[in-house]
Amino acid sequence: LINLSALYSNYIDSLKETKERDPYRLFISDVGKCPRQVGYRLIGADKNYVSEQTLINKNIMFEVALHMEEMMMSALEREGILIAFQEDVEVYDRENWGGRLDFVADVEGIRVVEFKTVASGAFRHGLDYPHYRKQSMTYDMYCRDVYGLEAVPLLPFFDRGGTNTWQYEEVQPDDHLIASLMDELDAVRVDAQNDMVISPKLPKKLFKRSYEKQLVYEPPWDCGWCDWSDECNPDMGKSVWAERKDSREPWTVKKAADRELLMKWATKELENIHE
Ligand code: SF4
Repeated sequence: LINLSALYSNYIDSLKETKERDPYRLFISDVGKCPRQVGYRLIGADKNYVSEQTLINKNIMFEVALHMEEMMMSALEREGILIAFQEDVEVYDRENWGGRLDFVADVEGIRVVEFKTVASGAFRHGLDYPHYRKQSMTYDMYCRDVYGLEAVPLLPFFDRGGTNTWQYEEVQPDDHLIASLMDELDAVRVDAQNDMVISPKLPKKLFKRSYEKQLVYEPPWDCGWCDWSDECNPDMGKSVWAERKDSREPWTVKKAADRELLMKWATKELENIHE
């Protein structure tokens, strides 16, 4: 039989414009991503192997997401509250940066709206993706004066599988944080131009798992989905440091060593909290 999904995917490809791109260009969508990962992209490192069918599936999913975004655009336009859609954003104070926002709309105040479509199975984790927040904070920072923004950025998460109810989040801007993340990426680019990717691997973090019944120390989600994890070879091991029977019970640790690890982790976290 003809592979109809391949035929569909090839058709999608035929509609795409091929653009010449500077390989060292940075994008607002890079802000908040693992800097090492961005470095791998800049030096053109080989991505992990994925099967042809997986590539086809990804292509089709991407196309579905674009279609939903266009429908959202029409819905906002129909209500008379759309101000901008898919507009280039000028990063006026840095060299060789670019970006394209999803929407600016008057949703109880003029604001940036970054529309995220997430697969049903990944929906709960999708809400944890920190770089989406940083991305919308960056668009907000560079669009504030251009569009006369009146409200904080809005981040709607839309389940493209139709299983979960939409979630919305209002993101609080933090220009200082964004400037430091962009500085970090500027430094990564200098390293990449010298053929080095020396940014540290992402550290493991402590998460509540199994319906808040386990405290698990594990790599951040980025590593699990990173296109360059074969190259980077992160430690994907997980350790359960504490458990409880249900979310109202106190935590218990099985080994004294786990208590020590928890204490060390908490002390380090406290050091990073600035008043
Ligand atoms: S595997 Fe993890 S640490 Fe390594 S580049 Fe990817 S996201 Fe970064």
